[in-house]
Amino acid sequence: MKAAVLFACGEPLRVVDAVQVPVPVRGQVQVQLAYSGVCHSQLMEIRGARGPDRYLPHLLGHEGSGKVVAIGEGVTKVVPGDNVVLGWIKGQGLDAPGAKYAASDGSVLNAGAVTTFNSEAVVSENRCVRLPDGVPLDVAVLFGCAVPTGAGIVLNEIAAKAGATAVVFGLGGIGTIAVMALKAAGCSRIIAVDIEPARLAAGREFGVTDTIDARAVDPVAAIRALTEGLGADCAIDAAGRTRTIEQAFASVRKFGGQCVFASHPPSGERISIDPHDLISGKRLQGSWGGASQPDIDVPRFAALYREGRLPLDRLIGRRYALVDVNVALDDLASGRVMRPLIDFAL
Ligand SMILES: [Zn+2]
Repeated sequence: MKAAVLFACGEPLRVVDAVQVPVPVRGQVQVQLAYSGVCHSQLMEIRGARGPDRYLPHLLGHEGSGKVVAIGEGVTKVVPGDNVVLGWIKGQGLDAPGAKYAASDGSVLNAGAVTTFNSEAVVSENRCVRLPDGVPLDVAVLFGCAVPTGAGIVLNEIAAKAGATAVVFGLGGIGTIAVMALKAAGCSRIIAVDIEPARLAAGREFGVTDTIDARAVDPVAAIRALTEGLGADCAIDAAGRTRTIEQAFASVRKFGGQCVFASHPPSGERISIDPHDLISGKRLQGSWGGASQPDIDVPRFAALYREGRLPLDRLIGRRYALVDVNVALDDLASGRVMRPLIDFAL
């Protein structure tokens, strides 16, 4: 098996061949990967922005798709031959420990309960969901992270109402899927804030009605101007910064305005908010995977995809072979590619 491994934070991943895959034990599922996503969480892990990594050398990746090849004792959710979505959000089933792989020199490579930067993975049963009908394996990758988070914030946490005015900060994968879900929920006005004119223009294809270039204007003032000075009914921050969490919170209306952030700023950073905003009934919360329950929400969001209400095919970005994983990470970091895809057939 081939795996992209983090040996030291701050260094590129090294692609290692001839890794030995352990036999799945109780609660584990062995999956042959078809595709893996690449998201900002891995960038942060690689750069050490989540603090020191105690598991080096470490296998990474937390969203993927593939076929089950073997199951350990006690596994009931899937059987060999099933296509599955792999994701980091815990669902039903056994919670098994991370697998330990062996490099060709016998040294141990550590892994968490799910990894996807490897052509075969032994994962925990509760990180697998059987692939719903009508979802191709490449699109399926998005159901491991970006869809449960982006659509989950809108449909589980905000419960966006028809006719509402919503703001989305950051039109990466999560922000763009949130736009799709806001449109599906019937929001009449969807304001997008980003610093890339190209991403803002693309957002209009998915339901954005108003765009704000945060490099050109103060987004909070611009949102006020668009909402008769009141602020939006809800705001979602998916731009990844403490500053944008603060701006998203400042941009919702008093007495009921709700801000949910998906951003994971580097550990150690703090946000600053006006306490009077809380006193006057604005709400602020962070999101853990859109409060999605994978076994319930993956089939639910897949139905929206089949109905054409979550047009996810258009989000699938450039495809990379696993050996080019560092190029994929660079392209994600620079914003050149919204949602890079590792294709294990390349
Ligand atoms: Zn992710």
